[in-house]
Amino acid sequence: MNDYYQDLGVSRDASPEDIKRAYRKKARALHPDVNPSPEAEEQFKKVSQAYDVLSDADKRRSFDMGSDPYAGGAAGFGQGFSFSDIMDAFFGAGAGQAQRGPRSRQRRGQDALIRLDIDLADAVFGAEKELVIETAVVCSTCHGDGAQPGTSRRTCDVCGGRGEIQQVQRSFLGQVMTTRPCVTCQGYGEVLVSPCFECSGDGRVRTRRTLKIKVPAGVDTGTRIQLGGEGEVGQGGGPAGDLYVEVAVRPHATFQRRGDDLHCTVELPMTAAALGTTVKLDTFDGSNELEIKSGTQAGDAMTLRGLGVTHLRGTGRGDLIIHANVQTPTRLDEQQEELLRQLATLRGEEHPAGRLSPAHPGLLGKLRDAFKAK
Ligand SMILES: [Zn+2]
Ligand SMILES: [Zn+2]
Repeated sequence: MNDYYQDLGVSRDASPEDIKRAYRKKARALHPDVNPSPEAEEQFKKVSQAYDVLSDADKRRSFDMGSDPYAGGAAGFGQGFSFSDIMDAFFGAGAGQAQRGPRSRQRRGQDALIRLDIDLADAVFGAEKELVIETAVVCSTCHGDGAQPGTSRRTCDVCGGRGEIQQVQRSFLGQVMTTRPCVTCQGYGEVLVSPCFECSGDGRVRTRRTLKIKVPAGVDTGTRIQLGGEGEVGQGGGPAGDLYVEVAVRPHATFQRRGDDLHCTVELPMTAAALGTTVKLDTFDGSNELEIKSGTQAGDAMTLRGLGVTHLRGTGRGDLIIHANVQTPTRLDEQQEELLRQLATLRGEEHPAGRLSPAHPGLLGKLRDAFKAK
């Protein structure tokens, strides 16, 4: 259920004036013409829907009584209106004038997002990686201009060079004079006499580019690295967007990451766990000696400080935590079995008491859930 009051940031007894003011304020901050981020576009849709409902006395009343005209997911509301359309509706035609007129052929290029798979060791220490990206670069034939060298442009005769066509439209804002970009010249106000052969007038061409990137130590799956100006070059030779590299760390066969700590399990023969020993471990920092204390139990955790993942922010590293797993010997030969029996006798363990203790709390929770589901 949508809460349109909350979307607009007004109280439930807000006056029509309050609602109008709240929407105007939000539209100014969120309209896609003003704020190109996708989150803002989503929010703009939400507040426009909210405004549509709350600015209409009938719709507002039925919403207050619990029905939602957009509950079925009627999408796209408010999208057809440009920022200047909305400003004009509030302040009279011409208020959005700054936005009007033929648009520039130059645009900022789009941001791009690509995924980079790395190994856990790269996340621990950082790494340099080469990325091959498909992207748009400035056309070398027309240098981004879009016109075949030696040719010019002419004024569009459909819109007379204004780049837009006006029409009157009825909407939730009342009668609105809306403007649409001219289809013939795509809003530029002028038409290329002869578009560049290389880029068909776009001013850029697609190509493959190799990029060296420094992956900082400590990144994790989902970390985004922003490379300013490494995205697509804009149309008409406009500035390039940014490239975002989203890191995905491949699972490691031995080490699992939790925060900046690494976890693994070491298998210990029963005798080693009972008597204590040292074992050699291969860590990301090379070979390491781990001391096993006598009397180590299955599930005991041992910590090697500072051998985990480098902290992305700040200094230092997490720890390497090794969980003991004690292996009960199988396939005993006669002599081994005899020795174990003697040991059991010495310890008075031939017939253990079978002391019961409570189930592991985690396990108990799971059991309860299983019964609930039935
Ligand atoms: Zn070109
Ligand atoms: Zn035109």
